[in-house]
Amino acid sequence: MMTTFNKAIVDFVQDTYQTKDFIPLHAPTFIGNEMDYLKQTIDSTFVSSVGEYVNQFESQIEQFTQSRKAVATVNGTSALHIALLMAGVKPHDLVLTQSMTFVATCNVIHHMGAEPLFIDVSRKSLGLCPTAAAEYLTAHTFINAQGHCQHKTSNQIIRAMVPMHTFGHPAELDELASVCKHWNITLVEDAAESLGSYYKGRHTGTIGKFSALSFNGNKIITTGGGGMLLCASETDGIRAKHITTTAKIAHPYEFEHDEAGFNYRMPNLNAALGCAQMEVLPLFLRKKRELAEHYQAFFKQSEFEFIAEPEYAKSNYWLNAIICPDEASRKSLLSYTNEQGVMTRPVWRLMHKQKMFSYAKQGVLTNSEWLEGRLVNLPSMPLLSGT
Ligand SMILES: *Cc1c(COP(=O)(O)O)cnc(C)c1O
Repeated sequence: MMTTFNKAIVDFVQDTYQTKDFIPLHAPTFIGNEMDYLKQTIDSTFVSSVGEYVNQFESQIEQFTQSRKAVATVNGTSALHIALLMAGVKPHDLVLTQSMTFVATCNVIHHMGAEPLFIDVSRKSLGLCPTAAAEYLTAHTFINAQGHCQHKTSNQIIRAMVPMHTFGHPAELDELASVCKHWNITLVEDAAESLGSYYKGRHTGTIGKFSALSFNGNKIITTGGGGMLLCASETDGIRAKHITTTAKIAHPYEFEHDEAGFNYRMPNLNAALGCAQMEVLPLFLRKKRELAEHYQAFFKQSEFEFIAEPEYAKSNYWLNAIICPDEASRKSLLSYTNEQGVMTRPVWRLMHKQKMFSYAKQGVLTNSEWLEGRLVNLPSMPLLSGT
């Protein structure tokens, strides 16, 4: 019974992609002006830290997301690093985040000298659960004389909260923002996976004070490697640009820097690729939605639950995911599909189980553990034949 349905899934995916060859989970798609813009960049010799494509790419992202200010960076991780720095995270601080996330979210907390504090995800959104966060904060913290949220036993300050929009599905942002407001915590969105996803009509990454997008090769659009820091205020955006570009004071030939900055600026060559990819993003989004609907219809009559966008959101359906009826069927599905050349993947090993974060404080993680045992990602490249 189990194995027959595994075969039905493989047949369905092969049929969908019209191939018996290896089908990856996600791969970049270049069907627009990528070659033209790259050639122009190379011909101009401005391939590196100076060039117009970076500015153009930033404006395209600002327009698309309606973000106040976008700052292009070398990758999503560096954008998230600067987001935490700008949020005022200090050594020994605590940063609330989900255990069910990609490791980069926690690495940047560590690089700030701070510690992650793991909160459960909601079953509906797969993102940080506002109820779980409020419960943890009520039980374990208080607002101190300076107005900061302080941990009762360790006295650490809870400075920021970083929800992640898992697989492109927007987290419950209004509720999370209200928890943050109540406890005086800065909201930073890890929107690395959610370009093109909307929360109640607003683009993800524009609700928090800061947020990060990623354009890594496996994301919905790619610049090879790249990221973008979104800032809710113009002033913060200007400062973010300054510190990601070595904090140099503008001058025709003098090298004066007013603080220890970062060399996180996206090279012009990568931005050229980004400009071309932004032109096809609306098409990718339409096609990914069609693919998700196709999967959803297929799994409707099965024991597997397709993860649909939460009712308040419009998701980019970056990675399609299903929940298997139990851990045994998940294991059997993963091994069968990968043997057959249809790539599927479990969710990331939970962060509190990774050895470098096993020390971290945590709330009750029931949903995270439950999902870890059952979730499988399916091939999610947009289907572009016939367009
Ligand atoms: C991809 C990703 C990142 C990091 O992006 P890079 O561009 O690879 O540095 C961060 N967080 C999440 C959740 C991601 O999926």
